[in-house]
Amino acid sequence: MPYPVVHVLFFLFCVCAVAVYATKKALYRKELSFRNSRTLLLLMFVGGLCTLLPDIPAVYNLLVNGTIEHCWIGPIPTHSFLFSSTAILFGGVVGYAAYREFNKAVYMAIFAESAFLTHLLLDDMAKGGCSYLYPLYNKPIRVFLIMDTGFAEVGLFKYLIFSFVSVFCVFIVILMALFALSQFGFEFSYRAEK
Ligand SMILES: [Zn+2]
Repeated sequence: MPYPVVHVLFFLFCVCAVAVYATKKALYRKELSFRNSRTLLLLMFVGGLCTLLPDIPAVYNLLVNGTIEHCWIGPIPTHSFLFSSTAILFGGVVGYAAYREFNKAVYMAIFAESAFLTHLLLDDMAKGGCSYLYPLYNKPIRVFLIMDTGFAEVGLFKYLIFSFVSVFCVFIVILMALFALSQFGFEFSYRAEK
């Protein structure tokens, strides 16, 4: 597992680079109002916390058992889509509490989920594999190992499928964050060439 600070920084500065860029631009143009900075702080809070959520058992185990076991809550692996429902719930509740709008709650839930999934992808890259599909499939799946498969080993057709699926997983997570951020006003924009 990469250190917690790496998870947070990777999500905030790499996956959410568009928000950093938009904030820098707004500060430069003196357009960042108090209301906007509240949204920014809320996104940082939800994103930062949800990107650490899969390792949350470490806090309990450190205090109670003196270990840093961080992958299980009872029989449930925390590095799974099933446990990511906690991020969706947390993002939704925080979004609704802050804006009292169902749409904003959904966008915040999507943002929280992308933060959670970013953690899984980093862990996958570092330690190799997460039980993404628990309880449908209990063994760890390694997205980044699949990405590294050569066509000499599996044949051209499987190689193309593996390549597409693995890159698509990363693409979807980044796209979720970009979509949610755009709904909160943080986006790049297209300027037509003249
Ligand atoms: Zn982890």
